Amino acid sequence: MQSKIVLLPGDGVGPEVVDQARAVLTTVAKKSGHVFEFQTCLMGGIAIDQTGEALPAETLSACKGADAVLLGAVGGPKWDNPRAKVRPEMGLLGIRRELGLYANLRPVRGYTELLGSSPLKPDRVEGVNMLVLRELTGGVYFGQKFREDTPKGVRVVDTLEYYDFEIERIVKLAFEIARGRQKKVTSVDKANVLESSRVWREIASNLGAKYPDVTLEHQLVDSCAMRLVTAPGSFDVIVTENMFGDILSDEAAVLTGSLGMLPSASLGEGKLGLYEPIHGSAPDIAGKGIANPLGTILSAAMLLRHSLGLEAEAASIERAVEKALARGARTKDLGGDKPVSTSGMGEAVLAALES
Ligand code: NAD
Repeated sequence: MQSKIVLLPGDGVGPEVVDQARAVLTTVAKKSGHVFEFQTCLMGGIAIDQTGEALPAETLSACKGADAVLLGAVGGPKWDNPRAKVRPEMGLLGIRRELGLYANLRPVRGYTELLGSSPLKPDRVEGVNMLVLRELTGGVYFGQKFREDTPKGVRVVDTLEYYDFEIERIVKLAFEIARGRQKKVTSVDKANVLESSRVWREIASNLGAKYPDVTLEHQLVDSCAMRLVTAPGSFDVIVTENMFGDILSDEAAVLTGSLGMLPSASLGEGKLGLYEPIHGSAPDIAGKGIANPLGTILSAAMLLRHSLGLEAEAASIERAVEKALARGARTKDLGGDKPVSTSGMGEAVLAALES
């Protein structure tokens, strides 16, 4: 099988972690007989510096013609001017929009070897294996917004807007994903207050009837936030709207200890997806060779699973990560007496893949 993968290393630690993921993908290709053709393109701050645009047309067209896109991270203090006309994150928003990516998947696992790095008691995190599915293109982030001067003072408005088909496609995806996991969906809303949530709940219940093999529960977003820290092991797939998902997925992310560990995928209607670690460009550690590459390596595993349909190869990367951790490899963010470098962790995963 021949596949084209576009790499968008981006800014800060992005290029350092993408390098390691590329090495892992190259080894998987060699071992499995597949051919992965890589093309590296500009996006984010580096693209602004070199072309004046966060998402150059050439990058977009390469992504549209690819089977999958692997991104490092974008942004950093150099471009941190909220008033600037072009900002790095515009590249990210642009690519999500242009590729029609409406679903963001964030799996969170409690690795036995890292239980000590969690802010929660080890017995709470042991066995955690959930996936937060966030709607990415609608809701209050994309609704009409404005501010106006009125006799009473400044009036500000943000609107939360959804079409029913936007809710339906993301909740349906949650059921499909749950079928391949522990067959449980928690649909999160604020149906006691928001009309959009009442419609969300209705649609989830109607779809639930079509997936009798999957257990559906509804939960209000505030109590879900509590349950994430009191009983995180009780979740399988959480599905929710854009802003709730943004907040809950960050809360879920810290359960396992380090941001550097967590992968993500953004998917649309077809197979083409965007894969990236959940962390940012980490400017405080960029260039030091100490960033944890596992979030990006695990994102590469998701890429194989969701865009290329290579489940066995994806699972082999996930097992190799577990093995590398079990053998004691720890980057600085994971603690440990003798931390390994970014490339040291990459090599530990490669060694585990080969063994
Ligand atoms: P961040 O995720 O970059 O860093 C937060 C903390 O986590 C830092 O202390 C950092 O050193 C640490 N960290 C992050 N990734 C790590 C890794 N792989 N290994 C070890 N430690 C790691 O978040 P921030 O500091 O809020 O943002 C920095 C920049 O990144 C900003 O410009 C922001 O806009 C951008 N950002 C980009 C994305 C993205 O590209 N998707 C996401 C979030 C933030």
